[in-house]
Amino acid sequence: MLDHVLDRIRASRLGRLDHGSVTQVRSASALFAGDFSGTTTVGSEFSHTRLGLGVMHDLEGELVSLRSTTWRIPVEGIPEEVSPEEEIAFGIAAHGGIAHDVHFDPQLDIEGILSALDAYLLRTHVDHEHVVCALEIQGTFSDVVLRTVGHPEWEGESLGEVLDHETRFSFPQWSGTLVGFRYPDATTGSTIPGLHLHAISDDRQSGGHVRNATTTSVTASVWIDDLHLRQDHARPTEAGDSGSIDFGAYEGPIS
Ligand SMILES: [Zn+2]
Repeated sequence: MLDHVLDRIRASRLGRLDHGSVTQVRSASALFAGDFSGTTTVGSEFSHTRLGLGVMHDLEGELVSLRSTTWRIPVEGIPEEVSPEEEIAFGIAAHGGIAHDVHFDPQLDIEGILSALDAYLLRTHVDHEHVVCALEIQGTFSDVVLRTVGHPEWEGESLGEVLDHETRFSFPQWSGTLVGFRYPDATTGSTIPGLHLHAISDDRQSGGHVRNATTTSVTASVWIDDLHLRQDHARPTEAGDSGSIDFGAYEGPIS
């Protein structure tokens, strides 16, 4: 009976307070088509942000950003802090907003984390197809597989071709922070659908794009955000054939 009142309170609370923003530079389809040139700097994408992820220009490693400190993960595997003037090929960053605590049980793999997050959003009356969520999960994990990328091997190599020989690092036990975004499953190719997480370990000795991870004991926060896509300056028409990118194969869990 009071549901509509509750809905209104939640809606106004979410509308007034909770919305931070998410900025993305370069469309996913342009990146996958092989545009790895610098599109902006680390500083302009990640300064004064809560968290973020991305890829360095010329694929000089996956990027992870936590409280405005940003690392690249070279193929050797040890994260290196990057300076604000270095350039990135792709980036997503979360600004502002209000953190909500989310509980994740032990023994959740990436798909389990996504289901639990979606269930939380449903309880909060948020449709995951209509928002972008920023997510931070800190704690201990098992069966972690992280990957990074290096320079393309030939001129014109697509990201998919590069990822066919991605560099992977496996950790039976791992402690650190996963940061990233839950984007809508529906995409025209400008965004990478579903859950996308990057990682940095507590000892700062490992990191990368998360292929696999299973929770052991974690705490987590979620921010429910608006999305702002910053326009690409270069090669905007690369988005042409975006429907054919198999994002799940390259970005999702390894089975
Ligand atoms: Zn990634």
